[in-house]
Parts: sequence; C-alpha cells; structure tokens
Amino acid sequence: MNETPPPSTASQTTGVGAPGLISNEPLLFELGSPGRQAYSLPPLDVPEVELETLLPPDEIRPPIEEFPELGELDVVRHFTRLSQWNFSIDTNFYPLGSCTMKYNPKINETLARKPGFAGHHPLAPESLSQGSLELMFDLQEYLKEISGMDHVHLQPAAGAQGEFAGMLMIHAYHSARGRPRKKVLLPDSAHGTNPASATLCGYSAVQIPSDRDGLIDIDRLREVMDEDTAAIMLTNPNTLGMFEKNILEITSIVHGKGGLVYCDGANMNAIMGVTKLGRMGIDVLHFNLHKTFSTPHGGGGPGAGPVGISDKLAPYLPVPVVVKKEGRLSLDHDRPESIGKVKAFYGNFGILLRAYAYIRSLGPEGIRKISEAAVLNANYLKASLKDTYHLPYPGPSLHECVFNDKLQHPATTMDIAKSLIDRGFHPPTIYFPLIVKSALMVEPTESESRETLDRFVEALLEIDRVAKTAPEQVHDTPRLAKVSRPDEAGAARRPILRWRPAESA
Ligand SMILES: *Cc1c(COP(=O)(O)O)cnc(C)c1O
Repeated sequence: MNETPPPSTASQTTGVGAPGLISNEPLLFELGSPGRQAYSLPPLDVPEVELETLLPPDEIRPPIEEFPELGELDVVRHFTRLSQWNFSIDTNFYPLGSCTMKYNPKINETLARKPGFAGHHPLAPESLSQGSLELMFDLQEYLKEISGMDHVHLQPAAGAQGEFAGMLMIHAYHSARGRPRKKVLLPDSAHGTNPASATLCGYSAVQIPSDRDGLIDIDRLREVMDEDTAAIMLTNPNTLGMFEKNILEITSIVHGKGGLVYCDGANMNAIMGVTKLGRMGIDVLHFNLHKTFSTPHGGGGPGAGPVGISDKLAPYLPVPVVVKKEGRLSLDHDRPESIGKVKAFYGNFGILLRAYAYIRSLGPEGIRKISEAAVLNANYLKASLKDTYHLPYPGPSLHECVFNDKLQHPATTMDIAKSLIDRGFHPPTIYFPLIVKSALMVEPTESESRETLDRFVEALLEIDRVAKTAPEQVHDTPRLAKVSRPDEAGAARRPILRWRPAESA
C-alpha cells in the first residue's frame, strides 16, 4: 500500500463522489478454498451418468489445475469490485478530446435490449425483417439530413472502417475513370487513422502543414494538389476544434484537379443541426455513431462508422444496400460496381439502434441544441483556463480546445493529466494532435453541467498552483489510483496475460 497521505484539496472534500481508485482485489485464483461452490441444489432425482458416456473424449475439457473454488457471493463481489475500478462516463467527467465521451442516455439501452430487435436473427428473411430494415433505412435518412450527403451506408463497424470503406470507394471511382491515382493529401493535424486508411488503399500519404491559425495552408494545398492526387482527407472542425473557414476554397482546389474530398466526421458533435458538410463540397464522410450519437465506447468498441457519399460515388457503395420501394424494404445485393462487403451481415445493428433512439428522442431541435451546448461548454472551459494554461492556437474554436504545459514547466502534460486522476477526473487526451507540442486536448461535450465544468476548472487551476510551487508533487501522481505510472510501452510490448502461482512468478 502507498502510505503517502492523499493531497488535501478543496475539490476532494467538496466534490461529488470519491477521488481516486483505491481498493485491493486479489486474483480469483488467490481467493476461495477447496470445496466451496457457487450453487446449492437438491439431491439428484435421476440416475447419475458419467460425462464420458455422453461426449466424445476430445470434447471433454481436461481438469484445470488449481481451479479456484468460490461461493457465489465471493464471485459477485470480486467482479463488482473490479467493475468499480473502471472510470466511466457514468461515474464522472471524461473530457477526452476527439473521442466525444458524452453521456449515453439509458433509453438507448432499454430500446436496444427489446427482444424483437435484440433477438432478431441476421439470417431472418426480409419478410420477417421489415421492422429492423425500416429502422436502418430511417437512420440512413436521418444521417443524410444531418450531414447533407446524398447517400449513407451503415455497414462499417468503426470510424476507421468507415474511412477505409470511403477510401475504397474513392479508389473505385478513380479506377473506373482509368487511373486510381497515387497520392492522398492529409493535414498534419489529422487523426492517425486517416493516413492509415489511405495507405491501406495503396495510396501514399502526403502531409500538408497547418498555417499559424491551425487551419489547412491553402497556398501549400494549391502547390501540391495535382492530377496524381486521388483525394484530400480533412477533418472539419479539425482536431484543434477549429472550423476550416476556407472549406469552399479547399474543396474547389481539389475538385479542380479531379480529386475528391474525404471528411472525417468524428467531430460532428460541434456542427450537427447547424451546418451540413454535404453543402461544402464533401464527397465522402464518415460518422462515429459511438461518439456523436451516444453509444458507450472506449476500450475498443463496439462501434459503428456509417459512411456518407455524394451521388457520383453511389455505384461503389458496400453491399447490401437497404432500399425501400412502395413501402417495402429490401436488401439490394445486385450492385456490380460495389466495393463489396466490409462487415459481416449489416454492421453493428445494436449500435445503429442506439443512434436511432438518440436521434428520435432529441428531434431536429434537440440535435441542434446539442451542438450549441457542446460548443458553449468547450468555450466556457477555454475562457476559464486561458490565462493559466497556454493555448498554442488561440483562435475561435468549437467543441474542443487544445492547451499545453508551456506555463507549467517543469511539470509536464503527463503530470497534469495524472494529477487529474487524484482529483477524480479522467485525464483529457494528451500529446494529440501531434502539431501541438505536449498537447492537452479537452472536449467537455454538451452533457456536462456548469457545476462539473467549474470543478474541473478548479482542479486544473489548483494543479497549476502546485506545479508552480512544488512541481515534484505534481509529478508524484496519481497517488489515489491502483497503479501510478505504469510502464506503458512495456505493457504493450510484453503483456503478461497468464496467471502463475506466486512461487513460479
Ligand atoms: C475517433 C476518431 C477516429 C476513429 O474512429 P474509431 O471509431 O475509433 O475507429 C477518426 N478520426 C477522428 C478525428 C476521431 O476522433
């Protein structure tokens, strides 16, 4: 146990919930004792049969050595305690920039569990699937309305897969014109999945620098855009939370050379209901339903990354396409120029259902209010912190803002992030976007109250005070978490996944 007394802070004594994450939990293998069991049943009233007489030998698991034996309550408490080590949006503020960790209304969960949807088999015939198909069709229509794109396809299972599907369509489009082209342009503030998706499609990624305001450098774009360039992949608002105010000029430069414009729509939280990317000359756009449209995410999914496209790319949509004719819904597989399937069946239906519930429960007015509140919240944080934390790009921003540690040296962004854990907050995104040295990227989302934002500001102001008077105290954090500073590279490269008895460890 760490004997250091917890730092005594105002936010700890007056805040909501407990700061830190201390509780001890042995492995199941270290709990229990032989002969304990998690059930009690009346004696057997039928003849006992040996397993070997029922199953072939290769289907019978050999006995597991030192298998833990526990009572039901031991097991329930063990897993419940473990679940409480998780930081989640349901426990406290989670200002993870670019990830849109907003609150996910519970009504989405209730609807996703409705047996008619949850138990619907993906191989059920169309005649028995009209409800699910209609939901998918309507969700496509809503996303078209929100984005201004001509078509939307729901199949991709994540933002990155939406990007990949979109880039495959761009590749198919150019190939159909005789030449797939070779390059894809990417601003240096792009999310790492963007160059990865372009590269997976066989393109070479060409970086365009940002200008002093954090926007795409138009002159540079004009220089590098040529007829060997298939597309630009941009993000609007970009990962600094800034709206590309020259977007019409950008799309016209790219279109002028026969290229297409891909927009990473992960930041839709700032603009939905306010403006439409389809009107800005965007040809392909992916949505992150698990971000903007409220599905619990983090830790790897599941998610959904529908892709929206302009008319000229329609022949290349993945199959099958959900279509509606005279009120009847069906799946169209007969699309000879399609890029094919990108995910089993129809995508992550449960996530589509949650997004549908979210959009329907908000309505058009509610959708717009979300964007307005998300932008207001981010700007409230920005205004409250701008005199204390350095803002490398101080221009107007939308739903997130990016600080760094310049004014807290020698305390670092990592120290600040770790100190927030002791104060009960999930750290923001750090060291991304790459164009900001030691970035600290905050996205509050619309779902946080003013009181929560004030507590967060108070915590950051206090960390700044400690950084300036006793920087070693900021470095020596978190003190209230199970693990303080893990060896992250070691954990990724040499993971220890198997339990061994203490003596052989
Ligand atoms: C999250 C994110 C992605 C990738 O989405 P996944 O669903 O995690 O694959 C792409 N671009 C931006 C800007 C993002 O924030």
